[in-house]
Amino acid sequence: ASQKRSKVVGVAIKDRGASMPAGHMGDAYWFDSNTGEFMTSSYYHDKLPTWVEKFNEKKIVDSYLSQPWNTLYPIETYTASTVDDNPFEGKFSGKETPTFPYDLAELRKTNGEYGLIASTPFGNSMTLDFALAALEGEQMGMGDETDFLALSFSSPDYIGHRFGPQSKEVEDNYLRLDQDLERLLNYLDKTYGKDNYVVFLSADHAVAEIATHMVSENVPGGNLRTSAVVSELQNFIFDKYGAGKWIINSSNGQLFLNRELIREKELNQEALENEIALFLLKFDGIKDVYTGTAMRTSAFTKGRAELLQMGYNHKASGDILMILEPGWLTGGATGTSHGTGFTYDTNVPILFYGWNVSAGESSRYATITDIAPTLSMMLDIKLPNGATGQPILEITDKK
Ligand SMILES: [Zn+2]
Repeated sequence: ASQKRSKVVGVAIKDRGASMPAGHMGDAYWFDSNTGEFMTSSYYHDKLPTWVEKFNEKKIVDSYLSQPWNTLYPIETYTASTVDDNPFEGKFSGKETPTFPYDLAELRKTNGEYGLIASTPFGNSMTLDFALAALEGEQMGMGDETDFLALSFSSPDYIGHRFGPQSKEVEDNYLRLDQDLERLLNYLDKTYGKDNYVVFLSADHAVAEIATHMVSENVPGGNLRTSAVVSELQNFIFDKYGAGKWIINSSNGQLFLNRELIREKELNQEALENEIALFLLKFDGIKDVYTGTAMRTSAFTKGRAELLQMGYNHKASGDILMILEPGWLTGGATGTSHGTGFTYDTNVPILFYGWNVSAGESSRYATITDIAPTLSMMLDIKLPNGATGQPILEITDKK
């Protein structure tokens, strides 16, 4: 849209958090937990820009990890969370309880050294430090075209997965992230002037409740032991159709069948998929089972099946797709995981602020895929080539 005059930079601790939002033509930097420095890929650069090298020389990560992680405010004021010490939260290795304070200088030795910062709110602060260095180093927002900074805070995800949504740790993370966002907005106000920039904020997912916690509160749920289910299924197919490794892989609620073996034995893949789907439905916690064939040949227009189909990749997805009951997860007894299409994990905020955005709120259903079309309409440029959402009219029509 600007003949490449616009600068696009993605920044995150996670590689995918930086590169995916920056797109194919942007630049991306992420945290290397082996070196404690921000890195890129030769896809973007042969050599790090000077401003990145200068940032890395400071080794900011060491100063963040030399301080303890304690609560920002007195812990008794944290009323949006449950008791700090409970059996449902994941622990750091080398610490008996999932409780404040966390001695990071000590814990880094047994928790991946530099990698530990990702699981603390200081991961957000460090990411912001780097993002501000990127704005300056790349002289972003100083030219005639609109530049785009895709800043992804990865720590809420790590903290959310380990401690769950009801934890003191998550509450503290958001109180601290709020301060980081204040620092960002103050910087933008000071550097570009109010209303000379537009910010949007959203998330890739929320945090599902820890299943064991909910069960302890009489809410139905549980952890599905996928490996046990897969081995029972393997035996079922074995008994009926003979020896062989029938299931090649099981990941993210999807099973990948041995298509070669199915062909060799001259079985009908679709019929076998349906047979497996019915077999799997006998397990507690498995709510729906869809087949790859159904995903390719039907159009699902409602609920979780529609979500599943939107994420179904004809070339790469599994042959069997499972949806668990609400409250159910795959994974261990502590912490929480991904993979549910229910609102407690899919509802995330979408906030727009700044240039041409008037104050207001709406509880109308919108999705994160609406963000790119909304920005495109605001900037009066073409939609990105893979865009599937719709502009959020509450924002674009107030121009
Ligand atoms: Zn996650």
